[in-house]
Amino acid sequence: VKSDPISYRVRPVAPYAHLFEVELRILRPDPNGQVLTLPAWIPGSYMIRDFARHIVEITAFCGNDRIAIDKLDKQTWRAAPCQRTLHVRYRVYCWDLSVRGAHLDTTHGYFNGTSLFLTVRGQEQSGHGVILDPPGSDVEGVWRVATTLARNGAERYGFGAYRADSYAELIDHPVEMGEFTLVEFSVCGVPHAMAISGHKQCDCDRLAHDLQSICETHVALFGEPPPMNEYLFLTMVVSDGYGGLEHRNSCSLLCSRNDLPHPNDSSMSEGYRNFLSLCSHEYFHLWNVKRIRPTALHNPDLSREVHTPLLWAFEGITSYYDDLALVRAGLIDHNSYLQLLARNITRVLRNPGRLRQSLADSSFDAWTKFYKPDANTPNAVVSYYSKGALVALLLDLTIREASDQQRSLDDLMRALWQRHGMDQDEGVTSDGFEALASEIADIDLQPFFERWVRGTDELELVTPLRELAGVELQLRSAEGELDKGGSEANVSRTLPWIGARIDQHSDDARITTVLYESPAQQAGLAAGDVIIAVDGLRVRRRDFETQLHRFQPGDRITIHAFRHDTLRESQVALAAAPADTAWFTLTEGAVAAQQRHAWLSA
Ligand SMILES: [Zn+2]
Repeated sequence: VKSDPISYRVRPVAPYAHLFEVELRILRPDPNGQVLTLPAWIPGSYMIRDFARHIVEITAFCGNDRIAIDKLDKQTWRAAPCQRTLHVRYRVYCWDLSVRGAHLDTTHGYFNGTSLFLTVRGQEQSGHGVILDPPGSDVEGVWRVATTLARNGAERYGFGAYRADSYAELIDHPVEMGEFTLVEFSVCGVPHAMAISGHKQCDCDRLAHDLQSICETHVALFGEPPPMNEYLFLTMVVSDGYGGLEHRNSCSLLCSRNDLPHPNDSSMSEGYRNFLSLCSHEYFHLWNVKRIRPTALHNPDLSREVHTPLLWAFEGITSYYDDLALVRAGLIDHNSYLQLLARNITRVLRNPGRLRQSLADSSFDAWTKFYKPDANTPNAVVSYYSKGALVALLLDLTIREASDQQRSLDDLMRALWQRHGMDQDEGVTSDGFEALASEIADIDLQPFFERWVRGTDELELVTPLRELAGVELQLRSAEGELDKGGSEANVSRTLPWIGARIDQHSDDARITTVLYESPAQQAGLAAGDVIIAVDGLRVRRRDFETQLHRFQPGDRITIHAFRHDTLRESQVALAAAPADTAWFTLTEGAVAAQQRHAWLSA
């Protein structure tokens, strides 16, 4: 058992009030007054969240004497000078049920270190101890602990002492405490587990088998053994939710109850396929972003935004491989994979922002644009996840073409891992990434990155997919708001279109976004407007589309809508729905079949 110069005792002191109490002990505080600060953001989620706003009480003691602790800014305190052991006691309000924050009630506790652990300025590289105290009798069930923090006396899944070698390591191991189901399996000899909390019905044997296949597929790509001693998926089950956050040896997941495999249903539901894809995504990150890192995110300043043009490579490539691993692992068939790919193409094609913002700019501005969506986001922003995954696909096909199908993006990922990942101290720059891609492809890929990463041209996927992957990308118009693409048309005619998105969670036909240069924009409609009548007939959200589809492209209709409390009348010239909905057919012939096999099999 190791004693560390800095240690935190964490108590779920008032679960009903969502309060953790933390007692921070500093053996050798700065004699001029110890400065303490809490991160403004959590690595992996690029938004300022100001976690310090949830600290509701804070006191400091030098030895046994209470001393002053003053606030310097929104997230920084300084204790009065102290020559003895400094104790800082504080309470943190934890009521954010997400993978990025902290949550505590009588059923469970979950926290990221960025929410609970004040940084001791000047001693970030010291050893940090953590003692996790069990709750009192005011909680439900028998609580255990799931975390990949190194045990320092605690039993496996037990309360007690844990530790980390530095502050950066300390905050990279989220903690779940409560009554959870453990799904355990092994990948290349390394113990893996998923801890699932929340009400659920789950076929855990099937889940273990499927997760194992996915993990093995990723390990096979980068090479054995996997670079950790254990791995943990922390899963919180809720009625309706979705989210994931990557860490070096674990990940946090939030999923909808119906996304888990039900014991009475052995089919591959869309929800379960999405959940496996999420698990696959976070697991791939343990290489791509947690160990192969952009230089900007190596020891980042957690007090403010840190910009990099490379998020597309870390999130986009990871998004490409998350679904690809499902088909390579044999969990879904080729058609199912092509449906997922077609839906991603559809997502990109439906937002005019793809023609106005580059992937590099989307990466750089993630903090204030992608992470802070508003009514204009579809017009102004391109997702570095969705388009990033398509550029990863295009890069894969480009390397295959340049090398006469001898090399692929897999080889680039292995080279990145060997040169930038295994050596933890060296991040990768944009120039370094692009030079390595050119080296693997053995052609100059500078024009590729200029056009598809720093430019805003419409992606050209049809020909490369036909000639190098054996599939035909087909485009058709959408059949309504719920049509996500991935399959053939059901309706034979082209439907009319106004280019306004309607809030699917409202009873009213409330506009959330008016697409750039659409008929709705030309007619003066705006986000927030509530459409109440189409050609004199009342509409609500659920019948708006049906009413609209009674017309033809080219028809002019009258729309009545409230903007705030003012009724407005607009004349809308209906357009034909754009061909923004993708689906696939297979290219005929043995060569195409061989190409599909090379691409979709490990
Ligand atoms: Zn990700």
